[in-house]
Amino acid sequence: MSLPDGVERRPFDGHDRLATRGEPVYGEPTDGPWRLWDAGRSKLGATLELGLDTGLVGGESVLYLGAASGTTVSHVADFCGPTYAVEFAPRPARDLVDVAAGRPNLVPLLKDARTPETYAHVVESDIDVVVQDVATRGQARVAVRNRQFLREGGHLLAAIKARSEDVTREPAAVFEDVLDELRGAYRIVETARLDRFHDDHLAVVARPRT
Ligand code: SAM
Repeated sequence: MSLPDGVERRPFDGHDRLATRGEPVYGEPTDGPWRLWDAGRSKLGATLELGLDTGLVGGESVLYLGAASGTTVSHVADFCGPTYAVEFAPRPARDLVDVAAGRPNLVPLLKDARTPETYAHVVESDIDVVVQDVATRGQARVAVRNRQFLREGGHLLAAIKARSEDVTREPAAVFEDVLDELRGAYRIVETARLDRFHDDHLAVVARPRT
């Protein structure tokens, strides 16, 4: 699986690790213009590290749902085009605004991803990729509601956290329910457990149903 343009494997501490080019954000090690993209701190990083075909080539427009303080979305903005970052919690959103200050293509939005109509006037309607990591109950619903932004041929990259849906159930059963709900709006292309880096998480690559 090839990495997107702008993402490379670089030697850090004697190991080849994912890296992007940009200003450091969270104290990550750097090597010249490159900064380590830690798969242990990023579900999308883990998805790339595990070799899933994310369909990312670099330069895409991205709608990122669940941006938190900007750890992962800062890497995304390093190699993608316009990157709209939705986060509804004010505290991490403040950090996100700081991260965006040095990245002109990163647009922070203090919004609730369950109500896309509140940011539809800002976000382009032909987005290439929706990246989702909201870790909250109703993850499939969030993805279904935000499908409207994807252009024809675009795709969804979601990280589903089982324990956010139901801490008492087996993750595999939770994932099946989430995938079933997603299938109402998307065709599932590939899934993979991210447990090597993130316990009880499932990566999902999906394309909107036409
Ligand atoms: N994606 C981040 C990263 O890798 O740097 C980490 C995201 S953290 C696991 C999940 C984030 O989603 C939290 O900051 C939470 O506040 C946010 N979130 C949860 N539900 C949301 C919603 N409905 N709208 C916007 N943000 C939401």
